[in-house]
Amino acid sequence: MTHRVINFYAGPAGLPLPALERAQEELLDFAGTGMSVMEISHRSKEYDAVHEEAIALTRELMGIPEHFKIMLLQGGAHLAFGMIPLNLLRSGRKADYILTGNWAEKAYQEAQLVAGNNVRVAASTKADKFARLPKAHELKIGADSAFVHFTSNNTVEGTQFHQFPQTDKPYICDMSSDIMWRPFDINPFGLIYAGAQKNLGPSGVTLVIMRDDFIEMCEAQDLPSYLRYPLHAEKNSLYNTPSTFGIYLLRNVLAYNKSIGGLQAIEANNRKKGEILYGCIDRLGDFYKPFVTEKADRSMMNVDFFLPSEDLTATFVGEAKKAGMVGLKGYRDIGGIRVSIYNAVTVPQVEVLVDFMEAFAKKNG
Ligand SMILES: *Cc1c(COP(=O)(O)O)cnc(C)c1O
Repeated sequence: MTHRVINFYAGPAGLPLPALERAQEELLDFAGTGMSVMEISHRSKEYDAVHEEAIALTRELMGIPEHFKIMLLQGGAHLAFGMIPLNLLRSGRKADYILTGNWAEKAYQEAQLVAGNNVRVAASTKADKFARLPKAHELKIGADSAFVHFTSNNTVEGTQFHQFPQTDKPYICDMSSDIMWRPFDINPFGLIYAGAQKNLGPSGVTLVIMRDDFIEMCEAQDLPSYLRYPLHAEKNSLYNTPSTFGIYLLRNVLAYNKSIGGLQAIEANNRKKGEILYGCIDRLGDFYKPFVTEKADRSMMNVDFFLPSEDLTATFVGEAKKAGMVGLKGYRDIGGIRVSIYNAVTVPQVEVLVDFMEAFAKKNG
C-alpha cells in the first residue's frame, strides 16, 4: 500500500483520495486517446467534455442559476483582487470592503491601487488582531456602494461568516478557503472567486462565478484581454489555454463530491469535524487556547490554537508528524497550531488528531 499521511495543510491542501486514484488510473491513457489529459489540445472533444463537466458539476452542486456564469481562470485569488476593481471600479463607482484578516486586507490594498478612495473600509477588526468578525452594527456601508467585498473564511485567523454580512448591496466574496463547504443561497452575490487549492483541487485554477448584471457592469474594453471578465465569460474560459490538468482534477473532486451526496453531505461531515475538534479544545481549555475570541465566529475550515509554550508547540508538531499527521504549524504571524480541516479531511482523521491531542495534554499538562 502506498504511504499516505493525514494532511492538515492550509493550502495547497489534501485532495480526496478517490479523485487522485482516478487521475492515477487515467493518467497514461485518457479517454482512449493514448495520451494523458495534459498532452491533448484544449480544443479537443476529449478535453472539452472534462471542461464542460467541471462547469456543469459546479452549477449542479452549488445550485447556481443560469443567470450566473461560471469561469475557470488562472492567477489565483491574487489576480482576482486586481481584476475586480479593474473591471468594476474604474468609472468612479464606489465599493465597501470588510477587513477581517490578512487576505481581506490584501484584497482591499489591491483594489485601492486601482480605485483609490472609492474603495472604502466597511469595518475592520484589525485592532483585535482579526480574532473576531465585526458585528452587524459595526458595518458602515454607503448608500452609493456598488458592492460589499468580504472574505467568507479567514484562512489565517480561523474565523468564518456563518451568516453573511447584513446589507442589501450585492456581495463580492473571496471564498478561496471555504467554497463548497456547505450549500448557500447565491442570489445576493454579484461575484464569487476562489483559488482551487484549498477546497476544490490543485493550485492553478481559480473558480469565478459572476452574475450577468455584474458582467454587464464591467468596463473592460480598454483592458489587456486576459484581464476582462466579459471576455472569459463569452469564451467559456477558453479564450486562452486553461489549466487543463487542474480543471481535470477539479472535475474528479467535484464528481467525487456528487457521489458522496453533494454539499449537504459535505456540510454534515464538516460540522461533525468542527464539533469534534472544538469539543476537544474546549474540554482541555487549560492546555489548548483558541485564537478566535467569539465562538460564533469559529471557522469550520481552519482552527487556530495555542499551547502553553513555544517549546511545547514544537514538540507537538514533531510528535504529530511521527504519528503521521502533517501541516499543523501555525501561520507565521500568529504562531501556535493551525489545523486545516477542508472538505477532503475525513471525520476519522480528525478523531486521530483529537486522540493525539488528549494524550499530549495529559502527558505535558
Ligand atoms: C489562500 C488564499 C488566498 C491566496 O490565494 P492565491 O491563489 O495564492 O492567490 C486568498 N484568499 C484566501 C481567503 C485564501 O485562503
